[in-house]
Amino acid sequence: MKTTLTLLHFINAKNMAKMLVVTALCTSTAGFAQTNPVVNNIIKEETDNSQVEKLAHELLDGVGPRLVGTPQMEKAGKWALEKYKGWGITARYEKWGEWRGWERGVSHIDMVYPRVKSLEGTQLAWSPGMKKPVTAELVILPEFADSVAFKAWLPAVKGKFVMISMNQPTGRPDYNWKEFATTESFDKMKAARTAQTDAWRKRITNTGLTTRTLPVALEKAGAAGIVTSNWSAGFGVDKIFGAYTKVIPTVDIALEDYGMLYRLTESGDKPKITIQTESKELGVVPTFNIVGEIKGTEKPDEYVMLSAHFDSWDGGTGATDNGTGTLTMMEALRILKKVYPHPKRTILVGHWGSEEEGLNGSRAFVEDHPEIVANLQALFNQDNGTGRVVNIGGQGFANAGDFINRWLTAVPDTIKHQIKTTFPGSPGGGGSDFASFVAVGAPGFSLGSLNWSYGNYTWHTNRDTYDKIVFDDLKSNAILTAILVYMASEDPAKFTREKITLPNNAKGEPGKWPEQVKSNRHGGLD
Ligand SMILES: [Zn+2]
Repeated sequence: MKTTLTLLHFINAKNMAKMLVVTALCTSTAGFAQTNPVVNNIIKEETDNSQVEKLAHELLDGVGPRLVGTPQMEKAGKWALEKYKGWGITARYEKWGEWRGWERGVSHIDMVYPRVKSLEGTQLAWSPGMKKPVTAELVILPEFADSVAFKAWLPAVKGKFVMISMNQPTGRPDYNWKEFATTESFDKMKAARTAQTDAWRKRITNTGLTTRTLPVALEKAGAAGIVTSNWSAGFGVDKIFGAYTKVIPTVDIALEDYGMLYRLTESGDKPKITIQTESKELGVVPTFNIVGEIKGTEKPDEYVMLSAHFDSWDGGTGATDNGTGTLTMMEALRILKKVYPHPKRTILVGHWGSEEEGLNGSRAFVEDHPEIVANLQALFNQDNGTGRVVNIGGQGFANAGDFINRWLTAVPDTIKHQIKTTFPGSPGGGGSDFASFVAVGAPGFSLGSLNWSYGNYTWHTNRDTYDKIVFDDLKSNAILTAILVYMASEDPAKFTREKITLPNNAKGEPGKWPEQVKSNRHGGLD
């Protein structure tokens, strides 16, 4: 995997023109990439007329996060349909299920005693709306011998905000410790943190409940709210998921402020905070995929698909999970419509709903469109952040390498040289929407990106925002995807689906191909 080559060639047309001239002169090394007019036009269109910054701004800043069942998800769907219409691409809204309708309102969390400080925090997704702000004292979940002791204590939570997360020993990420701490000090911190994490886990299990059922029990006992802190192991970053309470708010408070409240509570200062969170319940709403299409001319009943989930968590704006995958696919389809309007095979794009709750949109599509799945030439999915693509695997299809390597011959060396391919690879059982296709033996591939600190900093976090997008990488991915789709569409051969024999598992039993999982079409509703 080479990462030293820059993508500067794609920044401006002048550089690109220079590169093309140079390549044309070295005819002996000039590949298909530089001699095929469609490929050249794909590169030229993205280089001279990229729309990704504009699209990112409209979707991420304008519409915002796209949690399943929210009006913003619905608005994003309408926005995508409008965009495709503007580019002359047929696109449809495919409803496949229903979900709890909910809309996030404001979150204001302030410490009001022993001094005043506005805190960094937010309500979790689906947190119940509050009629008015509530001011109350905090209590830390104590350590109990067993569930009987926990139940005896429970009445003490009445009217209190209950802190149920561990107080992290440090707000510095490990890479920062590694750089500056002495080895002894770093090791000591890690050992203490592991012991503390284990002890906290035991503290939860000793209640006889789980992180899922504990908030509900506290709510029933009359707590005023649940206070959590789900640190994502980077500076100032938390993961924001969903609430389990039905009446009282569940909030996440950033490590820095959570630690301060924890220490003040522990030392007997009796801090008080005011929580004001608003949200709306919107009943039962449709959940959907957006599917775009450029009809094939020669083999209209065979399909090449672009794929990326459209929904997100809502602590940030879902910029890299999966705004960037979404924009890559939209941009690639826009370019293809412009430079390759009469494809051999039909080109489709799937913008999936509710991937975050279990690949639901793509699983529903696989169930609802067997004719497409049966005639799928290839599907390319991208869903691991903003980085340029560096990994493509064959997903356990015996001949995947023959096809994908052939398609890659058209990709410019500056992009191709960064990609490590693994053929035939092994079938992915989950992680993102390509797996919904692999499970039924259809060729779904994952365009694996360079991580750009995705795991800690942007994935499902409150920092997953526009500013984290690396547009050069995104543009490179749009070019790559458009070229792969073009090549897969033009290939005289149809993809062959022979599967490899999977190696035995750890127990020595024969390896099993991942199984199809049913889509959840009725989510978040009791
Ligand atoms: Zn994702």
